[in-house]
Amino acid sequence: MTSVIVLRGVSPLGGDPRDLVIAGGRIAAVTPPGGGEHTSVVADAADGAAGGTRRGPLIVDGAGLIALPGFVDLHTHLREPGREDAETVESGTRAAALGGYTAVFAMANTDPVADTAGVVEQVWRLGQDAGHCEVRPVGAVTKGLAGSQLAELGAMATSAAAVRMFSDDGHCVSDALLMRRALEYVKAFDGVVAQHAEEPRLTAGAQMNEGAMAACLGLPGWPAVAEEAIIARDALLAGHVDSRLHVCHVSTAGSVEIIRWAKAKGWRVTAEVTPHHLLLTEDLVASYDPVYKVNPPLRTKADTEALRAGLADGTIDCVATDHAPHAPEDKETEWAAARPGMLGLETALSVVIETMVTTGHLDWSDVADRMAAAPARIGGVADTVLDVAQFAQVGTSATLTLLDPQAQRVIDPAAFASRSTNTPYRGRTLPGVIRATFLRGRPTVLDGKIV
Ligand SMILES: [Zn+2]
Repeated sequence: MTSVIVLRGVSPLGGDPRDLVIAGGRIAAVTPPGGGEHTSVVADAADGAAGGTRRGPLIVDGAGLIALPGFVDLHTHLREPGREDAETVESGTRAAALGGYTAVFAMANTDPVADTAGVVEQVWRLGQDAGHCEVRPVGAVTKGLAGSQLAELGAMATSAAAVRMFSDDGHCVSDALLMRRALEYVKAFDGVVAQHAEEPRLTAGAQMNEGAMAACLGLPGWPAVAEEAIIARDALLAGHVDSRLHVCHVSTAGSVEIIRWAKAKGWRVTAEVTPHHLLLTEDLVASYDPVYKVNPPLRTKADTEALRAGLADGTIDCVATDHAPHAPEDKETEWAAARPGMLGLETALSVVIETMVTTGHLDWSDVADRMAAAPARIGGVADTVLDVAQFAQVGTSATLTLLDPQAQRVIDPAAFASRSTNTPYRGRTLPGVIRATFLRGRPTVLDGKIV
């Protein structure tokens, strides 16, 4: 295995081109492209890494490519154990690496539920064995996601998986006392409770966003207030016990306002938005194509605009995919029977470019923050820079991705690494292609293919 790699002429954070020399899993040198001292730096790095046995470095032509820190996804459904027909840790982390990700947080709504040290350690080990990216298991907040008794949070935190994020995602921890107890409990190990904000009494039977479109289509509505009421309550609780709350998949303009208010109070509240809530709106439901069924549902144009503005000004800290693979029998059925959820890992960057970069909301440093540094801070991820200013500095972990911002592609789920095909972008032309991904100096993707 080549231990020295030279990324020739890449643009860190979209800035001036540089040659990045990687050795021993770290950035060993950063030089002007083809710089004079460059050859000796590579030779020295090769000597150091190979213990004096000089081998040729792997040269990656990075002309025109932007280098960003490897992305971190706080919200991924890998479906293993239990629904390996829809996704596995192996297939889901391949999809992640191809999407530029070097760490994913695997949600707990598996079968069995990840509510014990045994299950989170199993998922963590599967991630280690696959090797495509870091897999950080999320522990359930309540036993069996049933919402009535706290799960073994401490045992999961001290397990080999070192769980720091807890969520009943798919379900809301709707009991205020249980939510308070969970927030208090995770403080002992600087954990965070990630809430799927959905007041269940307000969304019983809901099929799409509540409003004129739902009335027109004759589908039961999922009102914005069901999300906003829980976020407001949880922000108050997090402030009250001084603990860390993370709000999953924020989908409404009102939610952005509430999170802005909570942050202004100084409470430790963070939030994520999905790529699909930045781009897609409820009118797509008129097709009754279940590929557009997702929870929380697609909202209105005004909501997508507020979400974009919130992500741009930092009210929403980061992008998270809510990658939700489903087997055909669960998805390609009539609307009411279809499971909610969409694939996200292999298209997230492209949707962020489409909605946030080409529109002038974010520059490449901002993208690095919202897709890598900010989620790494929230989840506690080693190897990812916590501050974008540290990226591609000598001595830091060579955990990064290279993307071609000029390239476009037509989305074809048959080409995905995911075992499932439920992407809402089939046939759509989107900008940006991941060319390579490196995890601690080891290529996981080269030339757009899994290594
Ligand atoms: Zn959710």
